[in-house]
Amino acid sequence: MRPLKNIYEYITPTELENIKEFSKGKSSPFWIIDLKKVGENYDELQKNLPVAKIYYAVKANPSDEVLRVLAQRGSYFDVASVYEVDQLLALGISPERMSYGNTIKKDKEIKYAYEKGIRLFATDSVSDVESLAKEAPNSKIIFRLLLGGSSSADWPLSKKFGAHQGMVYELVIKAKELGLIPHGLCFHVGSQQRDVGQWDTALGQCSHIFNDLKKVGIELKMIDIGGGLPAKYVNPAQDLEEYTEVIKKYLKEEFSDIPEIIIEPGRSIVGDCGIMVAEVVNVAKKSTHSATSWVFLDVGKFRGLIETIDESIKYPIFLERYLEKKADEYVECILAGPSCDSMDIMYENDKCKLPADISKGDRVYILTTGAYTYSYTSVCFNGFPPPSIYYIN
Ligand SMILES: *Cc1c(COP(=O)(O)O)cnc(C)c1O
Repeated sequence: MRPLKNIYEYITPTELENIKEFSKGKSSPFWIIDLKKVGENYDELQKNLPVAKIYYAVKANPSDEVLRVLAQRGSYFDVASVYEVDQLLALGISPERMSYGNTIKKDKEIKYAYEKGIRLFATDSVSDVESLAKEAPNSKIIFRLLLGGSSSADWPLSKKFGAHQGMVYELVIKAKELGLIPHGLCFHVGSQQRDVGQWDTALGQCSHIFNDLKKVGIELKMIDIGGGLPAKYVNPAQDLEEYTEVIKKYLKEEFSDIPEIIIEPGRSIVGDCGIMVAEVVNVAKKSTHSATSWVFLDVGKFRGLIETIDESIKYPIFLERYLEKKADEYVECILAGPSCDSMDIMYENDKCKLPADISKGDRVYILTTGAYTYSYTSVCFNGFPPPSIYYIN
């Protein structure tokens, strides 16, 4: 069972007061997104890793409000689709500030992005390189490296993306032959990566490929070190500064001449900027003497908490009645959502410890829900609309 946490490990007393005040009288469920914190997280990363240009991964939280805060600070953006391209353009963000990071795209989507002015694309396959040569001539290309599956990421992004080292080498040669500009390498060590050593392995591979290509006269100029920096969930990860210090050290060790560096954070920028306020719909036992209670919330896998698949992401959860004080007694609870789908269970193996008197109508604060939540919400599965979102400054 998960350890009992103190809410002040996640937010300050003042922030908590504001959240409580703001939540009063509002109908659940909803999110509160703290835009000031979004800006602060961006600034902190830039301060700790001045060598890197920040390309915010739009998919983590694609709301206009979040994008505006980052755009004002001079952020660049990693986009996954032409729809995100359109959204950013509509916000007045120029195409020079976008990188098309998704390696999976239709020819007509490449063409569209190119026509809109995007000149930086990621790739990981022969046929995508051919499509890029045809639809986005003279563009700068970054090649995605496939990393060995790592079990230290809570939300792995291995297997599906990237090519093995030898294949990346061939793709670079091919891209050059076809008139594209081989610009750099990219990788993603897995989201919510708890082992900072993963960046060393990846940068080591990049360094090899850089050297091999130099021998045939191709000089790559850039490394995109992806996302993977953590947000604060139940299982601890090191502080941002530990990550950035170690990444800087690895860069120095692997490269005598450090190339241009870009980073694509998503979770670490917006994760801890969101709090979800939900409500207990029912508390029930499956038999009279069962030690475990089922707690049904008005949010679930289809209403913002899809990253609880396989119980991967463990959100800190607190009852509003017990934010500042401890309960006399706690019980083991299975946490589930409101829909008529039996996979709509958030935590069954890793049970939540909740106050023993938890009951219908109790308000629950689910912390660190600013990333990969609302954009994953179903349109209206079982008729439930997506929760509302409020932005505070
Ligand atoms: C999702 C994604 C990111 C963001 O990853 P986080 O772990 O949320 O920081 C960055 N780059 C690419 C290519 C991605 O697909």
